[in-house]
Amino acid sequence: MPATATSSVFPKLSEPLGLFGGTFDPVHFGHLRLAEEAITHLGLGGVRWIPAGQPPHRGTPQVTAQQRLEMVLRSTGNNPQFSIDASEVEAAAPSYTVHTLERLRRELGAEQSLVLLVGADAFAGLATWHRWRDIFSLAHVAVSHRPGFPVEASSLPHELATEFNDRRLTDVSGLKRAPAGGIATFAMTQLAISATQIRKLLANGLSARYLLPDAVLDYIRLHQLYKST
Ligand code: ATP
Repeated sequence: MPATATSSVFPKLSEPLGLFGGTFDPVHFGHLRLAEEAITHLGLGGVRWIPAGQPPHRGTPQVTAQQRLEMVLRSTGNNPQFSIDASEVEAAAPSYTVHTLERLRRELGAEQSLVLLVGADAFAGLATWHRWRDIFSLAHVAVSHRPGFPVEASSLPHELATEFNDRRLTDVSGLKRAPAGGIATFAMTQLAISATQIRKLLANGLSARYLLPDAVLDYIRLHQLYKST
């Protein structure tokens, strides 16, 4: 199944829309449960997955952006509450989250509540992201718990801890009351799965089964991906 150009058109929702960026190298059940449980816990109308093209925050991924996109397509395709935004993959230059959010704001309008979904590890590094403070004028941020990464102000860098304390939503209904600006946290099923772990297993010829969807594993085998670390 070739990765078809994916839609950047998304209907306006009365519920907040989740935006889930990541390298997805490869996509696994930690990602899928995060998106699924965000819909339930945060009352989202859906989640738009945004695979990174050339991520500015880490080294070059092992597989092509198109292959990572293809794996996300294969694992999310049968869920009508999931959609995929391929624009970062298709962009020639590295994409920054703030630019993607500015584009989505133009597309979806000022009223639509947008919720950027991040795991606790990614959130802890937020203050290193390009124009990170502007993110709060464009979207809410919802932080999921992840094993090994506490979600509390005392474990965050000082300037991020200040934002966290000032913007913290005590109730997820705050995500609906304003289009952007709040920080919510949510407890998802704790899955100590990482793409790093999966890449290592595969490079060592070990089984990664039940850590990620079979359809993704089939794709990895077919294209002989992750043969080395
Ligand atoms: P790697 O091991 O290569 O760093 P990863 O498994 O962390 O990859 P990413 O694509 O970097 O996956 O993550 C995308 C987003 O999903 C990030 O916000 C990250 O915090 C979150 N995430 C990934 N795995 C989990 C997990 N097991 N539980 C909760 N959040 C997760």
